Amino acid sequence: MTSLTLSELTKAYGEVTALRDVSLDVRDGEFFSLVGPSGCGKTTTLRLVAGFEEPSSGVVKFGGERPDGSRTSSATHSDGNERPDATGGRDMTGVPPEERDAGIVFQHYALFPTMTVRENVAYGLHFHDTPEGTTVDERVDELLDLVDLSGMGERDPRELSGGQRQRVALARALAPEPALLLLDEPMSALDARLRERLRVQVKEIQQDLDITTLYVTHDQTEALAISDRIAVMHDGRVEQVGTPEEVYREPATRFVADFVGDNNLFEGDVVNTPHETEGSVVAVDDREFRVPGDHDGRVTVCLRPEHLVLGERENTLDATVESVEFLGDAYRLHCDWRGREVLVKTDTEPGRETVTLGFDSNDAWVLPDAHRA
Ligand code: ATP
Repeated sequence: MTSLTLSELTKAYGEVTALRDVSLDVRDGEFFSLVGPSGCGKTTTLRLVAGFEEPSSGVVKFGGERPDGSRTSSATHSDGNERPDATGGRDMTGVPPEERDAGIVFQHYALFPTMTVRENVAYGLHFHDTPEGTTVDERVDELLDLVDLSGMGERDPRELSGGQRQRVALARALAPEPALLLLDEPMSALDARLRERLRVQVKEIQQDLDITTLYVTHDQTEALAISDRIAVMHDGRVEQVGTPEEVYREPATRFVADFVGDNNLFEGDVVNTPHETEGSVVAVDDREFRVPGDHDGRVTVCLRPEHLVLGERENTLDATVESVEFLGDAYRLHCDWRGREVLVKTDTEPGRETVTLGFDSNDAWVLPDAHRA
């Protein structure tokens, strides 16, 4: 196990700045996801960690101190020097990928088609010793068992489903017992049902092995489901780091509020902060909404679709239902409120075109300073 520290990483490709000043700490044994839209710099970050690229500036460090004070990284530099810093992490600058002690799984299976499943997994041990007291055959059997492919060792990769192939790729990456597991959209080529099944398996394996994992995905639902913590990236920067619950419930920026899950965002002005009661009042057009917290100036009120209900509550608005989607366990209403689209998730299908929507003030989340966001 190891921790991972990225300090002020910037990466430019000619005119394009793919990463700007990215700093992150991934803890020992953590499942940490980088999530964000296409082009935001997720893969670039992972490639800098893997050592396929060097940063334009900034430092990647592996390791650090465990609670018992012992060092966790075993990588050495190509120049033979170790560069532990004050935190005990080891500067990876100049360390080639094969010496970084990281297993990698990519979006496309990248299995060798002319090798059997067994040979593919054994290839992961090509440049590494097997764990002490284990032969290559035993280690491969262990790994096939871990990814639930026992008995499939003699198959050709072409005889496997997409999900099975990705499990072979995972077994190959894990074979040398790397300190870090790097996953770059490993499920995005699979259909939705398979993706869900595989993500449960990946999470179980990660927990079993207690391996520090950096996971890249553009799928925020997947990131929420699988991660201990998430970094939401946008335009080469990290917008927020937090647990899935924090990022969902308390988005730090308008981008995060909009990108992670459905959200209704209303800009308005704080009209007063009543001191006799808690909270503030925000005017959106000529409606006034009571919201939690003390605020002033221009703000964005964020309301999740599941927090808007049909009927009166502490705050209300009258909207027109434009369309209704049946989701199986709920309905999603696309409503119009004064030219704004308002999403509502509800158990009951509204019978009418015009509805009163309500929400409790404590269910609203307020982002300060809408001008800056
Ligand atoms: P996706 O989800 O589409 O893979 P991403 O978030 O992983 O996107 P990156 O692949 O890290 O994004 O790319 C970040 C930015 O850097 C993009 O604008 C991309 O075009 C640019 N970029 C990445 N690699 C290179 C390269 N080798 N040369 C030039 N520009 C690059």
